Amino acid sequence: MYPLIINAAISGAAPPTASIHLPKSPEAIGREAIACAEAGASIVHIHARDDDGVHSGRLEHFSRALDVIKDSGCDVIVNFTTSFGGASPQNDYQLRLAVLDLRPDLASFDAGTLNFNDSVFLNDPAFLRDLALRMKERNVKPELEIFDEGMLGTVERLADEGLIEEPLFIQFVLGIRGGARATPANLNHLVSALPRNAIWSVAAIGRDQLRFDAMAIAMGGHARTGLEDNLYYSKGELATNVQLVSRVKVLSELMGREVATPEQARGLLQIDKPTS
Ligand code: ZN
Repeated sequence: MYPLIINAAISGAAPPTASIHLPKSPEAIGREAIACAEAGASIVHIHARDDDGVHSGRLEHFSRALDVIKDSGCDVIVNFTTSFGGASPQNDYQLRLAVLDLRPDLASFDAGTLNFNDSVFLNDPAFLRDLALRMKERNVKPELEIFDEGMLGTVERLADEGLIEEPLFIQFVLGIRGGARATPANLNHLVSALPRNAIWSVAAIGRDQLRFDAMAIAMGGHARTGLEDNLYYSKGELATNVQLVSRVKVLSELMGREVATPEQARGLLQIDKPTS
């Protein structure tokens, strides 16, 4: 089987007090990305934080983290969020589009509106069209975040219109309150409903993270881990990002599946080599 892409969602939007292990400045996020790449991640999914560790949508904070990664020569695939969680103006579309100007390799593309825990996460059709177009113009590949089956139809339509290019990179996000629940039956159904020429990965929240990573390894998908989705290594024991990445790598190798290098992941996803 082709190697497993491990996507480390290292920073997320939780308050800085949620864990001592959250990277709490742009430079700390950059260093964390490099450490996770060394531990086996081929993608790092990044939400920026300011110098107080607070979730931030400002370009300066994304760009400082990116500089640390690029300056190190690390070729990990950089995936910036285009959503800003509950902590900042999530529905400020211009702010969400602006991050693409930094030309990360990948950026999240949340393929529909949903109730997201206690808020509304707006992704209306006109915005999604703008987002897809802007990504295409800037050669940023969308990581298509799918919270429910209907969003696959939206993605398929944008692909048919040529706004999103194949292979599609689909990230199922299971276990958000308001989206599809993290059950094996739901994952199985979503995988069976994939559009043509799609590569899929799964992120599950909290204690579901590890078992869904195991399912992805077994089913031929790819795995997301990291503190954005889960703060714990085991009950009551806080995790580090590197621990979470290392555990998925060990698990995959135990199950007979190699873990992808960034270069292999770039080949699978058809993402160009990094420019220096
Ligand atoms: Zn995210």
